[in-house]
Amino acid sequence: MTSLTPPVEQGSPERTAPDWDSLTAAYGSPLYVYELARVREAFEELAGALPTGSGVLYSLKANPHPAMVAELARLDCGAEVSSRSELAAALAAGMSPDNVVYTGPGRSRAQTETAIKAGARLFSVDSAGQLAVVRESAARLGCPVEVLLRVNPEQGALEPGLAMTGVPSQFGIDAEQLFARPEKFASTDGCEIAGLHFYLGSNVPTVAALARQFTDSLALSARICRVLGLRPRLLDLGGGFPRTYAKQDEDLDLSGIGPAVQEAFDLHYPAGPGRPRLLFESGRYLVGAAGWLVAEVLDVKESKGKRFAVLDSGINHLGGMTGLGRIPRVQPEFLVARPPGTAGPRATGGLPRIDVVGPLCTPLDFWCRGKQAELAVGDHVVVPNVGAYGLTASLFAFLGHDCPTELVLDHGAVVGSSVLLYERSPLDA
Ligand SMILES: *Cc1c(COP(=O)(O)O)cnc(C)c1O
Repeated sequence: MTSLTPPVEQGSPERTAPDWDSLTAAYGSPLYVYELARVREAFEELAGALPTGSGVLYSLKANPHPAMVAELARLDCGAEVSSRSELAAALAAGMSPDNVVYTGPGRSRAQTETAIKAGARLFSVDSAGQLAVVRESAARLGCPVEVLLRVNPEQGALEPGLAMTGVPSQFGIDAEQLFARPEKFASTDGCEIAGLHFYLGSNVPTVAALARQFTDSLALSARICRVLGLRPRLLDLGGGFPRTYAKQDEDLDLSGIGPAVQEAFDLHYPAGPGRPRLLFESGRYLVGAAGWLVAEVLDVKESKGKRFAVLDSGINHLGGMTGLGRIPRVQPEFLVARPPGTAGPRATGGLPRIDVVGPLCTPLDFWCRGKQAELAVGDHVVVPNVGAYGLTASLFAFLGHDCPTELVLDHGAVVGSSVLLYERSPLDA
């Protein structure tokens, strides 16, 4: 076993981290490593925290790796997809089309028709215009589809920085518009309004805030359904289940959510025939804890009194999305993995301060500055909790360095490896 400093993960003594030394010896560096057991564990935790009978949809944008999607499909998880390639991945993984919701603004007519031809049967729409496109596409293809109306509530349930709706937004139809012109949002031949869709924002920080957004959404959904004369088959309450990203922190215990949601559900939709099915969505909760990024220290240098460790991986493989400025810059924490018997650099006194930077030709490419760590050439650094929003949320095309290999582990063995390729969607053929 590789010696790790600090040795094992916090929290779960029964879990051991993969053997980074032998993985990098066999597969090189940088590496994304995913463990399917942790995906199963997260699914059971999430499903167990929700009202009985609820469906869980996996948001493929968190990590579309086929092995992750297939594992979730085996657990009877559905999918929330927003592109043709995500749809193809969900269906190829064996998810049933009834369990796949195609969401997102900015869907062309051609994309909508391609999706229907490929098997999409349930669309979330963000506007009257998008609803018209789905209606026309279904009619042209003679293929009936169902629609969820995504709702932008009157008020945001979340802090302004997190909210995707409750504010002026490209996401969802303003509740005011649904109340004002319900006739525009009626079922038509071949295009049934199956229910409503809410998704207020990502990474909601507390159980109380999560529970409140679900109970608020249930109350609002009941008002909307009354005005629309809609007896919904599905209510997709969205998600925002939080997960630690690129750090070791403890995750939130979700167990308080179920009772609060169940109570509001019973109040607004009493048990009995015709009661809708609740759906929830998650990307980061389901796969976040299942992934690590392993990188190698290529050089350690001093410049004008400062120490730098240069890695073979930087913002091109991790945290690229934070470059957009909406979320704070990621400063990943890492373990240092060093082959057994290798002496690391010896610090006298406390650990030295070092800037940990990537290989890109821009000063923006750093992971952390002034980190207290002992690093030597050949060491591996291992960033935990990056199974969600890792590689595909990054800038891996920038400067064209080799893309990290993605390794999938299960029962202690490598069950899949791949290098992400730019491929045309199989649906384009
Ligand atoms: C991004 C997104 C999700 C997943 O968000 P997570 O924070 O990864 O759980 C779910 N639903 C919709 C509509 C989204 O846009």
